[in-house]
Parts: sequence; structure tokens; C-alpha cells
Amino acid sequence: MCNQQVKEKNVNSIGENRSLVVIALGAPGSGKGTQCTKLAELLQIPHISSGDMLRAHLRANSSFGGKAQKAIAHGRLVDDNLVLSLVFQRISAMDCAAGFILDGFPRTVEQAQALDAYRFYKSKGSRFGREIVLQLVVRSASLVQRLSGRRVCPSCASVFNVNADASGREASCVFDGSQLVSRTDDCEEAIARRLQIYEQQTLPILSYYAGRVEIAQVDGDQPADAVTAQVLRAIICYSGEKAKPGGLL
Ligand code: AMP
Repeated sequence: MCNQQVKEKNVNSIGENRSLVVIALGAPGSGKGTQCTKLAELLQIPHISSGDMLRAHLRANSSFGGKAQKAIAHGRLVDDNLVLSLVFQRISAMDCAAGFILDGFPRTVEQAQALDAYRFYKSKGSRFGREIVLQLVVRSASLVQRLSGRRVCPSCASVFNVNADASGREASCVFDGSQLVSRTDDCEEAIARRLQIYEQQTLPILSYYAGRVEIAQVDGDQPADAVTAQVLRAIICYSGEKAKPGGLL
């Protein structure tokens, strides 16, 4: 069997038995969004980004968006009641039955506990499939460079980077021609706050999951395709019968 067939067989067999939930952890700018999008395509399960959902509410001027707007602009965490209701409603949808990828949620130990409690309640107390925590590890210097070079399309929400892709250096979106802008929370002050929140409130999630859920750490300081290959390897490895011990892959 050629490598491509092995890869396809492995990827296709991941969701065969029980549902798979991937919890992606990584500092702002670590490439979670890019990797989760690719992973969702490969595994054919939904990519659920709490940040994307909140920004969609901002764009739609909904009451949810109004309540979250200040916190997002300043790089603070949005109120748990809002975030939990958004995420729980989304993961209850039919298309999440075979699994889903969480990006940006949970962001605190309290949110991780609430997620466990919700899934336990929904599964009526039975075990609820496989869970994998995927941590993208990226050096601080790269994070700041990536965040300050990020440009987004206000219409279609496509993401570009002035340092990484030629299209990011264009003034307008290559897909719909809208003027590219920086995210309000990609300013220096908000970046510093978001990185601090990640260190202080999000990283302790690893200890919460340790020993109960497989944790794969992947070096996110490589070209995006190399990261994807390692992420996929980690998922295949951990979702198979023989889980490997943790460690940087
Ligand atoms: P992100 O796109 O994941 O970088 O999220 C952008 C912003 O949305 C964060 O800085 C927070 O203000 C808010 N946000 C996203 N996810 C959460 C969450 N799980 N809990 C609280 N706030 C969140």
C-alpha cells in the first residue's frame, strides 16, 4: 500500500468507532485556527472556534456581540455565561455527533470543568468517546510577530499575514476585494494581555487533563504543512489502540 493510501486509511478510520473530540490549545498566534481548519477537512468533523463565533456575533451586531465587544477589543476573556451557551449550543448540533474540534475553548480550568459536566450530562453518564488535547507550542517572539502581521478581511473573515504570504501584503482581500484590516485585539496592549491570560489561565488546563486525557504537544514553530503532518500523526497515534506517551512530537 502506498503512503498516500496508508494516510487515507488511517485518517478515514479515526472516526469509525467512537466520536473524537480534539481540544486545541495554543497561545494566540500559535496557528490553531489554520491547523484546526485543515484538521476539520481531513477528519470531516466540524471546527468550532469560540473566537470566530464571537466575531460573527460582533459583525451581525447581535446582543451577544454587544455584550462581548469590549472584552474582545481589550484582549480580556468574555463572560463564561455567554461563551458556554454559544459553545454548548453548537456542540449539541447533529453534525457534531461524530466528533468536533474545539479551538479557543476551553480557555480556563472552569470552562474545561463545565465542558466535562455538560458532556457527561448529555451522554447520560456514560463514557463519551475519545478526547485528545493538542497543544501547539510556539516561541513568544514568533507569536508577537505573527499577531502583529495578521490582517483579516472584514467581509469574509479570511486571515492573511504580511510576514508569511504575499496576499497578506495586498491592501485588499484576494477573495472579495474588501480592504484588509488588523483585528482590534491585535494591538500591542491587547496582545500582551492575551498572552498573559494564556500563560496564567489557559495553560493550567494541561494539569486538569493530565492523566485522564491524551495530551499531544506539537512544535508549532515549523512551516504550516509540517505542523499539520505532525498534528495528524499525533491524532492517528492517540486515537488508535496504542496510545504513545506525551512529549513534543
Ligand atoms: P481567539 O480568536 O480565540 O483569539 O479569541 C478572540 C477573543 O475572543 C479572545 O481574546 C476573547 O476575548 C474571546 N474569547 C474567545 N474564546 C473565548 C473563551 N473560550 N472564553 C472567553 N473568551 C473567549
